[in-house]
Amino acid sequence: MLTARTTGGELVILTKQYSLEHLRKWREDETFYCPQCKEKLILKVGDVMIPHFAHRQQTNCRDSFSEGESPTHLLGKTQLYELFSRHALNVNLEPFLVDVRQRPDLLVTWQDTAVPIEFQCSVIPLSLVQQRNAGYHMLNMLPIWIVLTPQTIHATSAATLSIRISQFHHFFIRQINDRITILLTYHPLSEQFHYLSHMIHLHGSTYAVRHLILRIDKQTVPFATPAAPNPTDIEELTRHYQSARRKYLRSVIGYNPLGIHNRFLRACYEMRIQPIQLPSWVGVPTAGQEAFKQPDCEWQLLLVAAMRETRKMPNQLNSSFFRTFIKRFEGETEDQLKACRVYTDFLRQERIDIYRMDKFIGGNFVQEILAGRFLAMHAKN
Ligand SMILES: [Zn+2]
Repeated sequence: MLTARTTGGELVILTKQYSLEHLRKWREDETFYCPQCKEKLILKVGDVMIPHFAHRQQTNCRDSFSEGESPTHLLGKTQLYELFSRHALNVNLEPFLVDVRQRPDLLVTWQDTAVPIEFQCSVIPLSLVQQRNAGYHMLNMLPIWIVLTPQTIHATSAATLSIRISQFHHFFIRQINDRITILLTYHPLSEQFHYLSHMIHLHGSTYAVRHLILRIDKQTVPFATPAAPNPTDIEELTRHYQSARRKYLRSVIGYNPLGIHNRFLRACYEMRIQPIQLPSWVGVPTAGQEAFKQPDCEWQLLLVAAMRETRKMPNQLNSSFFRTFIKRFEGETEDQLKACRVYTDFLRQERIDIYRMDKFIGGNFVQEILAGRFLAMHAKN
């Protein structure tokens, strides 16, 4: 913990303003107390960890401080505290919210609204995160969670990446400005925020993402929003998408037709087409495509196959057709219905003849679709 009270009742916040020497001297003449349980605290001033307070022994109080007090967490907490202080906001470090018995890392007040800030360094059960969110919700507070930048992202400066997003990190993806989806991460060692945004689902939990780095001294309050991707970013994201599509289609050939991918291979077989020769309009990142865990080319080809089986055209499909189709997939039904509709709208708009798999269609659908998606995302109201 970074806060304590002196014998005189004054609140102490350990920030960079105190030198190690000063702190070592101070602790000889001063006694520090826990702001919550009032027990005596030890002021630890070492060479590895940043200076911090600790309870003398295991107490009930200690539980609410015990999680995540790693050097990284302590350091990040002070840096974030200093960021908000620099912006002249009312900011409380480690305040105890009595009504819900929770202690956010920071409580920042901006425009008369108290916002809890949680800097989450360790992977904890999501049920615990939900429980804390429920507590904040009871107080009518909307918390901002900032997660520690994962090593793979911290190690690169590439502006676009293909990465696996774990279930834990996926939970912290949020929408800002109603349209732009981001994962906000911070790393205290480099003093940088890493933003992941403009995520395009590739397969399973793998996404192509835009990666932006922002030094903490350049960060604004409220937090900066990623700008629209430039044409180079869009080209790069298209390249990531196309390469994942190609990789999948190549890998699928190696599977036994009776194996796990049999319905995809069987559909290819029935349409008399090699997976690698699928037309470019199968496997496109139309809006809502992340509703399916499968790569786009897989569910989209199966949808085309289902249309061909019922001898329907993309404009002749009703709800029951779509509902029957998505029964074959795991996931959120309503989201998948929407994704199917967007894809069949795309086929109709592009006047694609789904009965001609061999027909060459020019144009870079992927790049056009992504450009359109991002344009809508960043459109000003
Ligand atoms: Zn205490």
